Amino acid sequence: MATTVVNEYRLNEDNELRLEVSNEDVVIELLNGTAELFGTQLILHKRYTLPAGFRGAIFTYQGAVIEVIGKTDSAYIAQQTPMIIYLNTHVALEALRENAEMQLKQDPNSTVRGPRIMVAGPTDVGKSTLCRILCSYAIRQSRTPIFVDLDIGQSSISIPGTIGALYIEKPADIVDGFDKNSACVFSFGHLSPAVNLLLYKTLITELAKVVKKKCKQQIAANVGGVVINTCGWVKGEGYDCIVHAAEAFEVDVVIVLDHERLFVELQHDLPSFVKILHQPKSGGVESRSREFRALSRRNVIHRYFYGPRNNPYFPHTFEISFDKPIDEQELIVAKFGAEQLPESCLPYGMEPEEHRTKVVRISISNELKNCVLALMPPSVNKVDQTLLEKPVHGFIVITNVDMEQKILSILSPQPYPLPSKIALFSEVTFIDDENV
Ligand code: ATP
Repeated sequence: MATTVVNEYRLNEDNELRLEVSNEDVVIELLNGTAELFGTQLILHKRYTLPAGFRGAIFTYQGAVIEVIGKTDSAYIAQQTPMIIYLNTHVALEALRENAEMQLKQDPNSTVRGPRIMVAGPTDVGKSTLCRILCSYAIRQSRTPIFVDLDIGQSSISIPGTIGALYIEKPADIVDGFDKNSACVFSFGHLSPAVNLLLYKTLITELAKVVKKKCKQQIAANVGGVVINTCGWVKGEGYDCIVHAAEAFEVDVVIVLDHERLFVELQHDLPSFVKILHQPKSGGVESRSREFRALSRRNVIHRYFYGPRNNPYFPHTFEISFDKPIDEQELIVAKFGAEQLPESCLPYGMEPEEHRTKVVRISISNELKNCVLALMPPSVNKVDQTLLEKPVHGFIVITNVDMEQKILSILSPQPYPLPSKIALFSEVTFIDDENV
């Protein structure tokens, strides 16, 4: 019989235990002292199950004893971490929140607001992790910040191919992160902004409008401020997207992790009132291969439909016919971006339309097989340019297209019928092997 591996790690103050869980779950327990995982405090003597493939660090400000039960790929104590720098950043942000709160108490019509902070840097420098830490520290001080994720490849708010915002009202779960149920999500439909830069920037502008509205309506959201995660594409057009996001969200602080050139360029290109900080990345941040990223994207979509392991969901599969007249169709698929018409096809004197953000209806074809579609809210009943301004209602997968019988097979979190009949096409695919 195989014996269970149990290890005890004694951490001095400001140390962290970096863990890479192998292909079997590992259980951790704080036996003594205080510790946190990416800003969420561990409860003394509570056992947490870290799933296979988990990567992370348990940090302590005062010292801690941690027990790890199970086999890890790697577990070591690091003495050098940037956590004190991140804590100081939080303290500075909290001072801005206190100031905003005080001024709003004196004058509720004041235009003062909490900090809007953006984290930028190349891939795998710990941007998402820093955002999570800053939001968690804010929550620990009873603030309610808005977290925005513009990283469409590895979104921590919704499924890949989207950008979104999350109003955070409770601490992140150690394993599952923040509760994403009330997220406001826009579907971009591709895994890289490069596929349609204008569309990406347009959706960032729309998301920023939603966030600003929320801040206007709710003082706690305004004071809590906004923490924005960005894509790791920092050169050329990727850089332009970062500058666009900073402008759209009217950020007042940008933290550049690791990348000195990006820091210098942003200092040059953003207005002088924006404070730009250059901070180190943690030595624990893992570099992820292309395959690993693809696998984690798949896992995120699987989780959306099938839930986390400790709280599984039971999605529905059903068929709908598309052998119907146009106005009786149960599902209409639209997409952002149309083919560009050659100028020679246009009547003389007519300006070419902006094809990249044009909303067009597409016909049902085999191309939809395995595509993850974004359902529009039930109130939407026609395909027009206003779809660009609408956050999505949820997602479905077209698991099969039978062109002969004219039947679509659908995987959906909700049972038949679909809550809405207009959906946005997305290049993001998911092969539902639970239902074969
Ligand atoms: P990308 O832009 O590619 O999405 P990123 O810059 O946002 O990446 P993160 O997602 O924050 O980087 O971190 C990459 C990985 O490193 C994650 O799996 C995260 O859990 C892990 N990680 C972050 N900080 C640490 C640390 N101090 N110790 C161990 N692992 C860490």
